[in-house]
Amino acid sequence: MTNSNCLEGIRCPQCGQEDRLKIAALITCLVTDNGSEPVGDHEWDDHSDAHCPECGFDAKLKCFRKRNRLPPDPENMNGNRAEWAAVALRAFMDVTGTDLEDALPDLLADLIHWADRNRAVSNLNRNRKAGFFRRKPRREFGNRGTRGGGR
Ligand SMILES: [Zn+2]
Repeated sequence: MTNSNCLEGIRCPQCGQEDRLKIAALITCLVTDNGSEPVGDHEWDDHSDAHCPECGFDAKLKCFRKRNRLPPDPENMNGNRAEWAAVALRAFMDVTGTDLEDALPDLLADLIHWADRNRAVSNLNRNRKAGFFRRKPRREFGNRGTRGGGR
């Protein structure tokens, strides 16, 4: 079922579930020496910490926002490919302690460092010339050429 209220446009980027999330909310409490009592409403925004109770994925809420426009997927495999990439990204985040916002540009930069040290660039160029990368459309990155984290 598509969410149309509190979780509209929200989905776990790691496991894809969109039924429930834990979101750190800001509330105001009336506090006395005997304890506290919530007063008024509570709120959160895209910078609030969020947690998927299904897979344990943690990130800022903005990382859970669905991307609406996806590139063509004639083989209907891009969902699987994205899940494989999420596994790699999550492993990278676990090893480096990087948050999701910085993990992708840092991982891409580190892959280039890895390629430099493992002579993989010549293999990439050979595969590119052989048309290997044409089999699946690639989404263009909005900030192409920009690296995060100074890596
Ligand atoms: Zn999840």
